[in-house]
Amino acid sequence: MIEKYILAIDAGTTSSRSILFDIKGNQIAISQYEFDQIFPKKGWVEHDPEEIWRTQLKSIKEVIALAKINPKNIDSIGITNQRETTVIWNKKTGKPIYNAIVWQDKRTASICETIIKEHNSSFCVNTFFQEKTGLILDSYFSGTKIKWILDNIPNARKLASNNELAFGTIDTWLIWKLTNEKLHLTDPSNASRTLLYNIHQLKWDNELLKLLDIPISILPNLCQSSEIIGEAEILGEKIKIAGIAGDQQAALFGQLCFNPGDVKNTYGTGCFCIMNTGEKPVKSKNKMLTTIGYQIDGKTIYAIEGSVFVAGALIQWLRDKLGIIKTASEIEELAKTEDDSGGVTFIPSLSGLAAPYWDPHATGNIMGITRDTTKGHIARAALEAIALRCKEIIIAMEKDSKTKFNNLKVDGGASNNNLLMQIQSNLLESNVIRPKTTETTALGVAFLAGLATGFYKDLNAIKNIWEKDKLFKPEKKSSIETVNKLWNKRISQIVN
Ligand code: ADP
Repeated sequence: MIEKYILAIDAGTTSSRSILFDIKGNQIAISQYEFDQIFPKKGWVEHDPEEIWRTQLKSIKEVIALAKINPKNIDSIGITNQRETTVIWNKKTGKPIYNAIVWQDKRTASICETIIKEHNSSFCVNTFFQEKTGLILDSYFSGTKIKWILDNIPNARKLASNNELAFGTIDTWLIWKLTNEKLHLTDPSNASRTLLYNIHQLKWDNELLKLLDIPISILPNLCQSSEIIGEAEILGEKIKIAGIAGDQQAALFGQLCFNPGDVKNTYGTGCFCIMNTGEKPVKSKNKMLTTIGYQIDGKTIYAIEGSVFVAGALIQWLRDKLGIIKTASEIEELAKTEDDSGGVTFIPSLSGLAAPYWDPHATGNIMGITRDTTKGHIARAALEAIALRCKEIIIAMEKDSKTKFNNLKVDGGASNNNLLMQIQSNLLESNVIRPKTTETTALGVAFLAGLATGFYKDLNAIKNIWEKDKLFKPEKKSSIETVNKLWNKRISQIVN
């Protein structure tokens, strides 16, 4: 029998990647091209959608060439993407009317403030958005970015009223291009990041659209995260597109977090933590986001999401600004030179503190230094700080969902640090599991695509191929209690 493959398209924030997986989830080949980050003004971040498409297509062709396979043998395509980033294009010409406004872009913060003020006397705008979308009104999400383009690009409103414009997140833009401008579609994991999608009714919400003054005609149609939606033409072959998911949700799926209480945490520059909460949305009391994990077989799986802004970035700071390490991975050896952090607590709020404190003005602190403090103590305190912040998020998620979390699944660059993972396990008093494949985002969307086409029979088929690299079991140590106590005491001193 001829071997078949799944092509995962991973459209990230800094690069376009394509990965081919075989049926056992082995990575056969990978191709990656970076694209320009455009910073037109302070706080503005843009991408050129045409460059995203060009680099993505180049990586697709290259990965097929590298793997030396016939494109006929690609079972299907799954697409995962940087979320919230907004593109609007002209349906007739196929050309974007403005650059993509990236999730990091803060230009619409003032739009959010104005909307809140305008409606202040009649109702609470944030409650309105939270109840319908699970999100808060923030420039991070697509809604106000769409509004900005419609309000600021000449002719945009007129074109929209003539039904000539289309909005999409990057998944939608790539599907449009891959299907020769035929399909205008997204899935609920992406739609639930726009501020326009009602996560209870599972449709675009007219009241939200009215409040943000966005015509429904520009929005994409909706499909499931795992569903054959159409065909892409690649190197003369027609290949099914069968999976779509935003990057963090794809990683949740790729980490096999299929049951309520299953959590994955990605340790990158920051940490992105998502917990599966099952078929009912959970409203957060701790300012976590409620979002859609994925939709498959007509079932919608909800999730609760929290992030830590500074995680691997703290290690970068120790490397680039303090110079106590030369490479990020050296932090582990340095931290191992001491058995504990010697009473030092590192509060890693280098750019404010997110959930559950939400103090944008908090600054970082290294507390408890004495004449005996060494570089090793500081290194260990930095690793503890990352793990302690993640613990706070996970505990808040547990409270919100009233679900005890199961084993923590980890990925991302800093998850390669064994000491950090052991500290995380000790502090959570739970198992921490690192998978063999670090490409969990791409793997997740490959699974979603393969389940739609029958490449994988069911979830069990996937469970059987997923392999762990290492299991970290909690160790009982008296120093853990001290670390927890000092953290609780000291963080309360710096949060307003
Ligand atoms: P991103 O996707 O956010 O760019 P990555 O998943 O590539 O992040 O991880 C890179 C981050 O992880 C950097 O901030 C780096 O400092 C940190 N990092 C990488 N290796 C280690 C390590 N061994 N120990 C601790 N931090 C690490």
